[in-house]
Formats: sequence, structure tokens, C-alpha cells
Amino acid sequence: MKLTVIGYWGAYPKENEATACYLIEQDETKILFDCGSGALSQLTNYISINEIDAVFISHIHADHIADLYCLEYAMLIQQQLGNRNSALDVYIYTEDLNHLPLEYPTAIRAHSINLTSVIKVGKLEVTFAEMLHEIPTCAIKATNAKGTSLVYSGDSGYTPNLIRFSQDADLLLIECSFYQRQKGYVKGHLSTTEVGEIASKANVGELVLTHLPHFGDISQLINEVRPYFQKKISKAHTGLSILL
Ligand SMILES: [Zn+2]
Ligand SMILES: [Zn+2]
Repeated sequence: MKLTVIGYWGAYPKENEATACYLIEQDETKILFDCGSGALSQLTNYISINEIDAVFISHIHADHIADLYCLEYAMLIQQQLGNRNSALDVYIYTEDLNHLPLEYPTAIRAHSINLTSVIKVGKLEVTFAEMLHEIPTCAIKATNAKGTSLVYSGDSGYTPNLIRFSQDADLLLIECSFYQRQKGYVKGHLSTTEVGEIASKANVGELVLTHLPHFGDISQLINEVRPYFQKKISKAHTGLSILL
């Protein structure tokens, strides 16, 4: 399995970059976790938009879904050009799909994520767990045939659900919105020390910090997590690629 970070900023993108978007590949299978602001302009540096097999959206905050609406137009135009003949399957965790401004069901086939479902896309199996955030948000796990697994936290405050869901995962891609000194400052997001505790309790194989803050010195984030988690820690950046 291969993870490529397409976008990693929280809230809004820095120049020439993107907010949450992650490409997960297993052989020819290619899926996206979240599709935030600026994601499409970055993604097409790595794959063609017609290669995406499915998209999973952890929650409907704009920094996680903004470019899905442009992806819908892209799918429509690609069909009109004769480059594809089917709608793209998009799985979204939200209370009411009908409130989303998706307009073309022939371009994007939107499905509600049910927390108990197991969705098979090519060579990957995708599962979900409820997180702790201002609006319904789920963590998403991709598992391959060998049992290798990658868990993405979405946005979340500290919750035992994330520890349970990522138990023994090979990689945990986890939001790290705040520094140690800001612990508990904003509900529904994690600080470095909480990230470290979760990773350690879940005994994950390695950690990637993402959904990074626009303030402070982000090179310090790993140093603050390190006392809690001694295995490999990476800080997300555009194009960061990890083979599992
Ligand atoms: Zn966010
Ligand atoms: Zn959010």
C-alpha cells in the first residue's frame, strides 16, 4: 500500500498547496481520503483524475470537501469528452447528503457512509469509526489483502474510539492541529501530546502528523510528540510518499 500526501493544511491552504487530501494506492487501485481546498491542482501532479476509483470524505467541513465540487465538474466534462463512461463513487459522512450542493448524479454517485459498512474498492477494503468533532466526522481505514492497514483520523478531539480503531495499524495519519501549550484550547482537534498518547496506546507502526497549524514553528510538532511515541514520526508535506 502507498500513501501520498496531496494536501495537509488545516482550515485553508498555504500558497501553492492544499488542505486535507490523501491518495492511497494498492496496485492499480487508487482512492482518496478527503478532497480539500486546492487538492485537485496538486493531485494531478501524481495521477490523472480519471484514475481515481473512489473518494471518501471524513466530514463536510470545507477544508475536507471543497474540491469535491470541482471534481464533480471534472467528471462531467471528462464524460462529455468521452474519456470516461461511469460516475465516480464518493462516500461521505454526513447527516443528510441531500443538503450538499452536488448537482450531477451522472458525474458523482454520492453515498452516505454508514459506520458499520465495509466498502471494497478494487484491492482495498475501507472501514469507518465515529470521531469527536463539531459535526459528524469519521476516521477511515484502508486495509489490503495482506492485512496491512492505514488509518486516517479525519478531524477529532481526544477519543478512545480513535485508539480502538487504529489499534496495531501499520500507519496512523493523524490530525495535529495544536501545540502542547494549546491542549484543550479548541474542542474537536488534537494537540501534540494527545497525538502521542493515542499513537502509543494504539501501538501503531508509524505516525504521520497532518492538518497542520498556520502558526508557531511546525518543525517543533514532532519534537513534542516524540516523548510519547518512539517509532517513526513524519510531518506531512506535499508529495510525502510512504510505502507500507
Ligand atoms: Zn479540518
Ligand atoms: Zn473539521
